[in-house]
Amino acid sequence: MNYPALKVNLAKLESNTRLLVEKCAARGINVSAVTKVFCGMPEIAVAMVKGGASYLADSRIENLKKLRVFNIPKMLLRIPMLSQVEEVIEYADISLNSEYKVIKALSDEAVKKGKVHQIILMVDLGDLREGVWADDVMDYVDKITKLEGIKLIGIGTNLTCYGAVIPNEENLSKLVEIANNIEKKYNIKLSIVSGGNSSSIYLVEKGTIPKGINNLRLGESIVLGNETAYGERIDGTYNDCFTLCAEIIELKEKPSVPIGEIGVDAFGNKPTFVDRGIRKRAILAIGKQDVRIDGLIPMDEDIIILGASSDHMIVDVTDCKKDYDIGDIIEFRMDYGALLSVATSDYVKKIIE
Ligand SMILES: *Cc1c(COP(=O)(O)O)cnc(C)c1O
Repeated sequence: MNYPALKVNLAKLESNTRLLVEKCAARGINVSAVTKVFCGMPEIAVAMVKGGASYLADSRIENLKKLRVFNIPKMLLRIPMLSQVEEVIEYADISLNSEYKVIKALSDEAVKKGKVHQIILMVDLGDLREGVWADDVMDYVDKITKLEGIKLIGIGTNLTCYGAVIPNEENLSKLVEIANNIEKKYNIKLSIVSGGNSSSIYLVEKGTIPKGINNLRLGESIVLGNETAYGERIDGTYNDCFTLCAEIIELKEKPSVPIGEIGVDAFGNKPTFVDRGIRKRAILAIGKQDVRIDGLIPMDEDIIILGASSDHMIVDVTDCKKDYDIGDIIEFRMDYGALLSVATSDYVKKIIE
């Protein structure tokens, strides 16, 4: 085995997916499983498909391209770039949109290819990332329904990502109301009313998610088992579907405070040190080029992470029960940001279990 490595437990990921799919199904909601944190690797996404996801969703078209082997609809989460319209029509069955200029370009390309592209119109309910303002929705729908290459299949919203606005019965009811108004006015059926991401799961668990919301786009809740409105664990999920393994390359007793005049570190920061006396320190062959260090949680709870430069990470193993040696592997769980960085680093091998 080569290190550093990201180990993926497919059985646990499938179990997490199934648990959330079933929770949502009990409220009439289907799930778009979000694959972006692991760069849309099909070897991993297969667990989400087996777990019962209705759609695979990713923010990058490069990732959807890798997922074309799966015979379920693919959803592009990030508003398409004008420069990528061709690829969007080719590799995404559905895209989330908020700009008429883009939607028109998608329509033109779809017509050229003899296709009809499905879109979800995003509505901004106050989080201030993507979406059209609620008052403007009908104007957009007016124009969209005239486009030959586009089928408006639903509306959606995204919350908690930028403004940290928490979804609740009030803002999500507004989305349902807008969907109902569109259906009435244009005499069309919207098959998707997409009520957000993993921050909406707590409403499903409480049983207070407004009736009419019938889709959620879930990433972190599946992958790490977290609901993200209040940062709670979701009962019955695994938090170790993914583990990072790094190898010890130096192990020595050293003081905990550097000797000499202190300037700035490799990243231009002035470091501070806690004096714990002479400590047993391990250097691991992994660094900031591979992982966002702040988001790592050692599986061995007695390990203290001291810091890292580009390619070296230093941990304090003095209090550990295990007697570590050169060549030993230290394992970590990760938060979302750390997992994202690890999955994206070409230097970290991906091991599927
Ligand atoms: C990333 C993303 C999601 C998934 O978010 P999680 O918090 O990981 O569930 C859902 N919708 C959109 C538009 C996204 O970009």
